[in-house]
Amino acid sequence: MRIVKNGDVHVSAPIGMPKSEVERFIEEHREWIAEARKKTSERQKRREEFYSQLPLRTREQADDALRRLKALIEPLVEKHAKIMHVSPTAIHYRAMISRWGVCNIKDKSICFSAYLLLLPEWCVEHVVVHELCHLLEPSHNARFHTLMDKFFPRWHEARAETHRICRMEDDDEGLDELE
Ligand SMILES: [Zn+2]
Repeated sequence: MRIVKNGDVHVSAPIGMPKSEVERFIEEHREWIAEARKKTSERQKRREEFYSQLPLRTREQADDALRRLKALIEPLVEKHAKIMHVSPTAIHYRAMISRWGVCNIKDKSICFSAYLLLLPEWCVEHVVVHELCHLLEPSHNARFHTLMDKFFPRWHEARAETHRICRMEDDDEGLDELE
């Protein structure tokens, strides 16, 4: 049994289990459900508060954010791409709230979340190195982590700090996804 983002409760049961037994199980865990739903909605609220610190509603706000993103991220990409001997074909920015970055390994482009502006620079640098690392290794496997150890030794710490700042402490991953 688990609570999904919108607060719904998902229950899985073995095929053939009588409905009454499933209902009894849910009934017995009513308190747990109430508690878990409360936590989910509180986390959602904290997350919304975090992202609302960077308003991107107007043209001016978006243009200003883009200017600041380019000034922040492009030198970091340049610095680490040189060290790592990789060259992304394009850098894009999007107002992504669920991921900090996306590496498209087919066309070797990288997309960064505009909300990186809300993180300290060393955490942004960690995301940059992480995405560049995907140009060398697409999966989050042992080889990927060895590369991260080499190119950004504090990656573990940076990831924990990033999760702490945006109150994603309950998520294991949430850093990026591959396209
Ligand atoms: Zn990744």
